[in-house]
Amino acid sequence: MRAAEAETLTPGVGPSGLATISPMDSPVLPEVQAAFDRERSDARARPPADAAAFRTQTISMYGRLAALQADAIARTRVEFACKRGCSYCCHLRVEIRPHEAFALAHYIATKFDAGHRARMLRRIEENRQRIAPLSPQAHVRAGIACALLDEHGACTAYEARPAACRKYHSMSVDVCRNAFNDTEAPLTGEIEHEDVRLAGNAVALGFAKGLEDAGYDIALYELHDALHRALTDPRSERRYRRGKRAFVKQPGDATASR
Ligand code: SF4
Repeated sequence: MRAAEAETLTPGVGPSGLATISPMDSPVLPEVQAAFDRERSDARARPPADAAAFRTQTISMYGRLAALQADAIARTRVEFACKRGCSYCCHLRVEIRPHEAFALAHYIATKFDAGHRARMLRRIEENRQRIAPLSPQAHVRAGIACALLDEHGACTAYEARPAACRKYHSMSVDVCRNAFNDTEAPLTGEIEHEDVRLAGNAVALGFAKGLEDAGYDIALYELHDALHRALTDPRSERRYRRGKRAFVKQPGDATASR
């Protein structure tokens, strides 16, 4: 992950308080750089052959992301405040890439029963309509609960949740709570540990860059919008597989595509 090609993906926090892609300003450890390079060259050399392989490789990448972050956590001995049922971060803006949207959509399509699926689609569409008029900056602090969040504060698609959710962590529940309760106040206080954040980015971003090298769209899209399109428009996956932009506005479509 050299400076020119490195990015940071931090939903809801960071200098602008926004999920961003920007040049990374931190040096990375050799093993983190090696993980990025390996992910990139593997994905470039062996891009998935079909839709099922895309999903399998995406979920498998999530496992490597968790492992590298676990190494960083063990090395730094950092303690996190995150606990099951604490869901402040699930009210932030989340941005995902097409390969993640298709994996998440497939999980919903195959693991949820018909009633659950229909209710979920309605919630996703409601959120999509609420988010459409907001700028990304306004959405970050709008306090809109993710459609996949259940009443106990748990993710209903935990096994297929995107990289942004997997990477995100907090060292202080007070910082998260304050940001949630006072959406006007500037974000202050330390949330993520830099080494852990960089480890997560190395895997997710390396994999994405390899797919980009192989000719696939790796743009970031707002979660609800991407998920709704992945669930309801089969043309999106076909477009993606042909190397085109996965999610595009259709005539008469008022919602944002990013
Ligand atoms: S996908 Fe799951 S983990 Fe991510 S914001 Fe939504 S509910 Fe939270």
